[in-house]
Amino acid sequence: MKVLKFGGSSVASSENINKVINIVKENSSNHKIAVVVSALGGITDLLLEAGNLACNSDENYKYSIKIIEDRHLQIARELIPVNNQSSVLGTIKNMLNKLESTLEGVFLINELSNKTSDKIVSFGELLSSYIISEAMKFSQLDAVLKNTQDLIVTNENFSNAAVKFEKTNVLIESFFKENNNAIVVLPGFVSLTEKGEVSTLGRGGSDYTAAIITAATNASILEIWTDVSGMYTANPKIVKQAFPIKDISYQEAMELSHFGAKVLYPPTIQPVLEKEIPIVIKNTFDAKADGTLITKISSNTNPIKGISHIEDMTLITLEGSGMIGIPGFSKRLFGALSQEKINVSLITQASSEHSICIAINNSDAENAKTAIDSEFSYEIDQHKVQPLIVEKNNAIIALVGDHMKSHQGISGKMFSTLGKNNVNIRAIAQGASEKNISAVISHKDIKKALNSLHAAFFEDQTKELNLFIVGVGNVGGKLLEQIKKQEDYLIENLKIQVRVIALTNSKKMLFNEDGIDLDNWKLPLENAENLDMDLFHEKVTALNFRNSIFVDNTANESISNLYADYLKESVAVVTCNKIACSSNYSNYLNLKKLAREYNAPFLFETNVGAGLPIIDTLKNLIASGDKVSKIQAVLSGSLNFIFNNFNEQTSFYDVVQQAGIEGFTEPDPRIDLSGVDVMRKILILARESGTKLELSDIENDSFLPKSSLEANSVADFMETLKTEAIHFNKIQEKAANHNCRLKYVAEFDNGNAKVGLKEISPDHPFYNLDGSDNIVLFFTERYSKQPLIIKGAGAGAAVTASGLFADIIRIGNN
Ligand code: ADP
Ligand code: ASP
Ligand code: MG
Repeated sequence: MKVLKFGGSSVASSENINKVINIVKENSSNHKIAVVVSALGGITDLLLEAGNLACNSDENYKYSIKIIEDRHLQIARELIPVNNQSSVLGTIKNMLNKLESTLEGVFLINELSNKTSDKIVSFGELLSSYIISEAMKFSQLDAVLKNTQDLIVTNENFSNAAVKFEKTNVLIESFFKENNNAIVVLPGFVSLTEKGEVSTLGRGGSDYTAAIITAATNASILEIWTDVSGMYTANPKIVKQAFPIKDISYQEAMELSHFGAKVLYPPTIQPVLEKEIPIVIKNTFDAKADGTLITKISSNTNPIKGISHIEDMTLITLEGSGMIGIPGFSKRLFGALSQEKINVSLITQASSEHSICIAINNSDAENAKTAIDSEFSYEIDQHKVQPLIVEKNNAIIALVGDHMKSHQGISGKMFSTLGKNNVNIRAIAQGASEKNISAVISHKDIKKALNSLHAAFFEDQTKELNLFIVGVGNVGGKLLEQIKKQEDYLIENLKIQVRVIALTNSKKMLFNEDGIDLDNWKLPLENAENLDMDLFHEKVTALNFRNSIFVDNTANESISNLYADYLKESVAVVTCNKIACSSNYSNYLNLKKLAREYNAPFLFETNVGAGLPIIDTLKNLIASGDKVSKIQAVLSGSLNFIFNNFNEQTSFYDVVQQAGIEGFTEPDPRIDLSGVDVMRKILILARESGTKLELSDIENDSFLPKSSLEANSVADFMETLKTEAIHFNKIQEKAANHNCRLKYVAEFDNGNAKVGLKEISPDHPFYNLDGSDNIVLFFTERYSKQPLIIKGAGAGAAVTASGLFADIIRIGNN
């Protein structure tokens, strides 16, 4: 005989029940079959809700009954041929009337014991098994319904009753011995006490019912049919990359289910384990998928089989100097918890015995506090023990595998992975059998912790980078193009997957936690919600993705003021915006400090020379012990473009305007022409060389006339370039007469920095600088005679975007 159990989602609709019938049909051609069914998906919750409403004198319980009634009647109508419906519908209504009377009683006396609650929820399985058995009969299957309440006997621990196996096994054995039908349909979850009162086996208990029947009948296999294709390496609803485990041992499956893998109710394994009957977990909606085979010894020797987690945990800590060396403290602590029937999920005790730390369910937190504080009231009064510390909203994550003990370094890898992703670990436990390493973390970190552990232990080490991009103008737009183009290359060659999770322009912000489609983002962004940078931060924090990167493509101070908030959330910052690094020194230093403290890179290569590797080179020089003595540089692609194109035939105004059109100037050209942009760049280089310098320390000998310097708007400023044409022409003519070219030069020498327009003679390395190129000369201890020179295109959207992209990849390679 085979036992097949179908869970709530497998029987949630008539369409699904038809799938179940087909699966049973296929299996029954060469086996006798016991079919254990859950209540229709969602019905157990509705029944419990109705009970609570009735108990609170809330008439809405009638509304819940109505929903329950409608669903069952509708499904029966869809499954049973019209001519035969009346007797089936009559039986269902009969059962629903009994349910209604029970709830009426609860409503009248305002009391709901576990015993009455069991009576109420039992209707879920009684109804579903009846409907399914009738539907099978009308599908020409030789099926009969057997009420499990006649077979499974329990104690009186209502809502979570313990099975009395001696009696139960005899009843099951004798029923199946005498049964001649090919298929027996049985309700899961429900049972009776010895006195004949309705009891249940605990939430998820239909799996257990099936296991009990499997063991008692010595069936050849137990098949658990559910809505996923097996037991996965992690909860597939939270970890998208999780995959079904092909085979696994009883012990491992038990450990995973105890630590939250809901796909199997934890007590299920014990009865079949003793008889060594295999369990298979299968998908009702993808019957061909292999599923997971659970046996005594699995052939899979991976040290880690899966990662599971339990939510809604509270950490309680009992500590105090009075606990050291005194026997009996833990006995009293656990005694108090056991008195209150509080289940303990994890225990750790420091070897100093100064504290004991325990994880329990959130719902037990208040009871535990009262019970333990009262147990230790004397010691608390004497200040030997502190009042119990209670911290709610935690979770336990557990790595599970039989073969962990023969592998070193697993816990090291687990904790370093969590550490790298800034997941704070509150408590750790590892059993001596080493089948399980568990850690308590904060609820908010669950998704990140599971995904990063899954990546570390199960995935082909592809690193996922999650980008939150502010600004999709010239530079941002190019960046998106480049990311799109490189996607496949990065995955194949660098094992880096870049996902853009959010995009903003100046008005709107678009989020998609599965990654925005880079072929189609413009329209969705137009139609997205209004930009609100506070909300943006909230969303980034709530998503709490590992390897999150905030990318700033703007030139706005208000955006650069947000970096600290992101770094503090361990979100890396990549920016082409120079304002933060050239703001006051303490702010610059603070951002660097936060980046180190929160393990979140802060990269700004494009602040100087766009995509040229200037800052990275400088960092490498300094890190390897070199010292910078002097920097000479032409750092303004815009000014270089302007002075390379400004000659007798052109007007200064036209050239500046052209530079703007080609994207070589900042949105406000005054920032370039006043020299401020170059000041910021040399300031950043000086700081990166290790010098404490402020923008106000930099000498700026401006070539602009007074009227241009005083212009109040971009338009006014541009106008002065026309009216002051003679001033600019004179500068140009003078240089030409000296056979020189004009270059805007920045210099850092001996701790001092200055910027200004210089006449450069033909023998100087700056003389032949084309277009918008930049050049930097580093004079250092190692490069003292011949400087280290970096030269190339230093402005423009495409090269700036590529510099940002390189910073992003740097984080990926890290
Ligand atoms: P059923 O109603 O069939 O008994 P359950 O909802 O009890 O189904 O269990 C199946 C669910 O268990 C899946 O839909 C999935 O969300 C959840 N689950 C949690 N952890 C795991 C895991 N490691 N593998 C598979 N499913 C898991
Ligand atoms: N119907 C019960 C529940 O939802 C039992 C089960 O489905 O396993 O918990
Ligand atoms: Mg279940």
